[in-house]
Amino acid sequence: MTSTALRYRVRPIELELKHTFRLSRGASDRRHNLVVEIESEGLVGYGEAAPIPRYAQDAESAHRAIDQMLSALQDPIDFEPELSRVAVADQPAAVAAVDMALRDLQAKRQGVPWYQTQGLDPETIQPTSFTIGLDCPEVVVQKVREAAGFHALKVKMGLDNDREILAAARRATDQRLRVDANEGWTLHDAQQRLDQLVELGVELVEQPLPAGELAAMRELKRTSPLPLFADESVQSLEDIPRLAEAFDGVNIKLMKCGGMGPALEMIAAARRHGLQVMLGCMVESSLGISAAVQLSPLVDFVDLDGNLLIRNDPFGGLELHAGRLLPSGQPGLGVWPLDAAPRQGCTA
Ligand code: MG
Repeated sequence: MTSTALRYRVRPIELELKHTFRLSRGASDRRHNLVVEIESEGLVGYGEAAPIPRYAQDAESAHRAIDQMLSALQDPIDFEPELSRVAVADQPAAVAAVDMALRDLQAKRQGVPWYQTQGLDPETIQPTSFTIGLDCPEVVVQKVREAAGFHALKVKMGLDNDREILAAARRATDQRLRVDANEGWTLHDAQQRLDQLVELGVELVEQPLPAGELAAMRELKRTSPLPLFADESVQSLEDIPRLAEAFDGVNIKLMKCGGMGPALEMIAAARRHGLQVMLGCMVESSLGISAAVQLSPLVDFVDLDGNLLIRNDPFGGLELHAGRLLPSGQPGLGVWPLDAAPRQGCTA
C-alpha cells in the first residue's frame, strides 16, 4: 500500500435531455451529474455519479462524499476492502462513481475490457428497452415512432389516462412493451389495470405500488397475470430477500446500490432468491451507462438508455447495434471523454 493519497479530480457535467422527462412524481429537462477521474501511473480511471433526489442526494452532497472517500483511500489496486470501509452509506451515486473509476483503472492496468476480468461475453447481451416518458397520447405516438430501432419500449405510466396512452402506443408499434408505473398506482388500480395490460401485449410491469407497500405487493403478485419488477422498492443487497415473495424480479441500478461491486453481489443474491434481474439506469452519460453495459451479460432484461435520452453526451465508446448497447472492447470501461482524446468509435 502506498502512503500517498490518490490523485483525482471531480468535475460537474450538465446533461441536457432531448425530451422533458415526466414521471408520475415530476418533470425536468436537465441533470447535474459528476465525473470523477482518478490518476495512477499514467492511466486515468473514469467514474460517474448521477445523484438521485429521491434518496436525498444532489451534486453537492455527492461531491462532498467523493472527496471524503478519495481522501481516505490510499490503494488504487486492492481497493475493495478499503472502499467498503469508507463508503458513504447515504450517497450511493458517489460510491458508484468511485467504484466505477477504480474498476476502470484496474482493468486498464491489465490492458483488458472490464467484462473480460469477469469472464463475461458481450455476445450474450440482450437488446435494451427504450423509455417513453409520460405525455399526451399524440406525443407518445410520436416518441414511439422515433424509437422504431429498439426491440422493447418501456412506457412510463401513472396518469389517469394510462390506458389511453398505452393503447395509442400499441397501435403505433409491434415492439415489446414494458410498463413502469413509478409507484403511481394503488392496489385496486393495479388489479384493475393488469388484465388490460395483458390484452395490450405488455410483458412486465415495474413498481406498480409505492415502495414500502410490500404486503399489498404480495397480494398483487398472488393473482398477477404479468411479472412484477421492483425498482423503487429495491436499493441494496439487504432488500433482496424480502422482495422474493412480493415481486418476480428486481431492477438493479448502479446509482442506487453503489456501483459495480455491489451490483454483482445483488445479481447473485437475486438469483439465489429466484428473482429475475433487470439492469436499469438513471439519466447518465455513456460513462455511467458503459459501466452497467459491462455487467449486462449477467442479466435477463437490459434497461440502459440514459445516454440515449441526452443530446450532449460528453463520453464516447458505447455502440448501439440493432437495439443492443455494446461495449467498445477498449480496456477498462471502454469509454473516453470526447473533449480530451478523440478516438475511433461511435457514440450511441
Ligand atoms: Mg423504474
